[in-house]
Amino acid sequence: MSTMVNYPGDPYPWLGTHWGRLTAAFGQGRFPHALLITGQPGLGKAAFAHELARFLMCEAPAEGVAACGKCTGCTLFEAGNHPDFFSVSPEEDSSAIKVDQIRALSDRLAMSRHGGGFKVAILDPAEAMNINAANSLLKTLEEPTDNTVLVLVSANPGRLPATVRSRCQQVRIPVPERGVAVAWLKKQVDAEQPEICLSLANGAPLLALDLARGNAIEERARHFQSLVGIIQGRQDPLALAASWSKDEDLTGLRWLREWLMDLLRIRLTGHVRGIHGVDLAEGLQALARQLDCKVMFGQLDKVNRAIQMAGSGINRQLMTEDILLAWAAGTS
Ligand SMILES: [Zn+2]
Repeated sequence: MSTMVNYPGDPYPWLGTHWGRLTAAFGQGRFPHALLITGQPGLGKAAFAHELARFLMCEAPAEGVAACGKCTGCTLFEAGNHPDFFSVSPEEDSSAIKVDQIRALSDRLAMSRHGGGFKVAILDPAEAMNINAANSLLKTLEEPTDNTVLVLVSANPGRLPATVRSRCQQVRIPVPERGVAVAWLKKQVDAEQPEICLSLANGAPLLALDLARGNAIEERARHFQSLVGIIQGRQDPLALAASWSKDEDLTGLRWLREWLMDLLRIRLTGHVRGIHGVDLAEGLQALARQLDCKVMFGQLDKVNRAIQMAGSGINRQLMTEDILLAWAAGTS
């Protein structure tokens, strides 16, 4: 029997296999009490977890594979106030899921359910749990209450304690086949270059969609031209550093890191195959001829260190100035 079942509404066709497996397990009464949904960002993990919660809270799933959309469970869930549904994420002022949040969740899960479906809790991103929170969750995982499903969502499951991981059934969402992703992308948006967006997103369709909808491609081209401008002496590195360092995410430096790796690849292999920056292949190829390999390795090292130290209170502007001044002096 095939487990390929259309995911409800089929928004993300690459999730169908997983949906089929889980709903089949449900039909056979062996649905796991804890799931760990993993995969790189942009594959729809959160939406999948949410859809799963909707399904588990439905009191009469249609054909056993999708929430009916009509029962009390479905109505309450849709309205966002199902008393048996819990969503745990870092609170506004924090980047961590704290132990108090997990204790409160465990208390609620220990109470009897209100509706006829399951009690479901989604923890996303699960790796945001600090160590005390993870230890507290462990108790709940070890002594699951009836009719309860915990859904942990994580792009970095390696950061979760092994003891937590081992008590969850892992659902690994892979990067979809390129053809599937491109076809999906073309349906969503009138993207001029869906393939390029998909490459820049490392194959993750939802990230590619963000790129296609936003102006990231233009933004990247502008950043790249500024770097070329520095080498050609028509862009002031200090002015550019002032502008780049306003961005807390260090987008400019992250792109520079990616381009340095591409430039090295082009220099070492002599061609542009396999580079990440497919949107800028021509410009990268031209630039690669002018740069010194040794200097590029040194710069890559510098940029890597800067990105690692970001967030540790380091002065972003000084750091960016240092890198862009080195870039200005980097041609052979
Ligand atoms: Zn229902």
